[in-house]
Amino acid sequence: AKRKGKSDYVHFSPEMSEISHERLQLESRLRRALQQEEFELFYQPIVNTSNGNLLAAEALLRWNNPEIGQVMPDRFIPLAEETGLITAIGEWVIQQACQNAVTWKNQLGRDIGISVNVSPRQFRAAGFVTSVMNALSTSGLAAEFLELEITERLILDNSIETAQILQELDEHGVRLSVDDFGTGYSALSFLKRFPFDTLKIDKSFVQDVLKDPDDAVLVSAIINMAHSMGLRLIAEGVEEEEQVQFLQEAGCDCAQGYFYSRPLPAIEFSQWLDSYTS
Ligand code: C2E
Ligand code: CA
Ligand code: CA
Ligand code: CA
Repeated sequence: AKRKGKSDYVHFSPEMSEISHERLQLESRLRRALQQEEFELFYQPIVNTSNGNLLAAEALLRWNNPEIGQVMPDRFIPLAEETGLITAIGEWVIQQACQNAVTWKNQLGRDIGISVNVSPRQFRAAGFVTSVMNALSTSGLAAEFLELEITERLILDNSIETAQILQELDEHGVRLSVDDFGTGYSALSFLKRFPFDTLKIDKSFVQDVLKDPDDAVLVSAIINMAHSMGLRLIAEGVEEEEQVQFLQEAGCDCAQGYFYSRPLPAIEFSQWLDSYTS
């Protein structure tokens, strides 16, 4: 007979139950977070690489829990996806982001785009397109100023539903971008098949562009390819002036990163706008 007992014992080791206990605790806190208004959006400017003009802001979610402090998205988004909580959280994110975009439009006296991250499960949930359209009509933001950021992972599933949702959003005039471009393993042909407007070059490439000639070649190739397909480009994770220069020369349209500003709470972003316009 096989000795099953041993592996069972390993399975219930103290470290394991500690991990799952921690997870359960995080999960139950996450379940209450929306109702307790513990979520907050930070905003990071996206600028025109050649003249530094502000074009849009990306909304980045933070979770402020009174007991555990500020939790970064990498720690709770996967959990929110697994539990399905992401649908309600994501809906709040889109509503909040659209409202803030209208506030800044009024402050600036001109339109400003808003980019929102959408995770795969949220995207595929029933009523997603309707909830996006509701956020637009409630806030009064025109569809063309909302851009939804989707990772290559989502497109990889190749399902008819994904294609349909993308098409519907596109028909409504909402913009679509591919986030973290270059990190997935998808065939580039998906760019032709789906109605994307923008590619966001992943920060891992941008950060090595001055150190690693291979990355420099790769980034230039991505820019040329995307342009030939009529796509706009945003370079993520730009931290240094020399990277901006490289991107300018390579013809990259837009940039985003600590070099311009860290993601800021809404009030500080509004102050940043004031100092930027004066
Ligand atoms: P992302 O969409 O790729 O967002 C960019 C991340 O890079 C952000 O991390 C941002 O703070 C960080 N970043 C910006 N500029 C720089 C830079 O110059 N250098 C470096 N090293 N990092 C920079 P953050 O805010 O921790 O967000 C992490 C990820 O969490 C995001 O990656 C996104 O995938 C996800 N996320 C954030 N907010 C939401 C949301 O509302 N919904 C969903 N589904 N996912 C979200
Ligand atoms: Ca993003
Ligand atoms: Ca489009
Ligand atoms: Ca990204």
